[in-house]
Amino acid sequence: MPFFCIRCGECCSQMGDVHVVEEDRGGGRFLVANRYTGERDEVEIDPALSRLSPDRRIFERWPMACPFLREDPESGEVVCIVHRTRPEICQEYRCWRLLVQNAAGVRAGRVMERRHLAADDPALKAFWEENIAGIREGDIDRWDEQVILLLKGAGYTVYW
Ligand code: SF4
Ligand code: SF4
Repeated sequence: MPFFCIRCGECCSQMGDVHVVEEDRGGGRFLVANRYTGERDEVEIDPALSRLSPDRRIFERWPMACPFLREDPESGEVVCIVHRTRPEICQEYRCWRLLVQNAAGVRAGRVMERRHLAADDPALKAFWEENIAGIREGDIDRWDEQVILLLKGAGYTVYW
């Protein structure tokens, strides 16, 4: 299954320390520097999202959010207002390796990095702690296989 983003905004919520606007070039275009890699990109606010640009309320919740992150009050989604021209690091980013849904088709959790569970559902968290957290398998592919089998056996659907 291809990666899909549910637009929660979590991955961009601390990126204000990384992406620094170096220059406002006018017309909704900005020169952005990555403080850590030194890469520079020109980004441009998507015309369809420019209405969100002045609304900076998201920084009350996430003071360190990327300067281009906004919450759309109509949809409740958190969006990148320069999505079409966002830096390469953002284009390549995938926040999960395994996506776990419960029997109702609702996201129950995500496995991030190698073995970290970000749980949305306390039942999955409890199942994980009881049955998965203690697995001592060094090979990540074999670990994935075991974990997927256990989760499926418990009624979850797993995408990867
Ligand atoms: S990439 Fe992941 S963390 Fe980032 S907005 Fe999408 S679902 Fe949320
Ligand atoms: S440019 Fe967009 S995708 Fe990249 S960190 Fe900022 S808000 Fe997120």
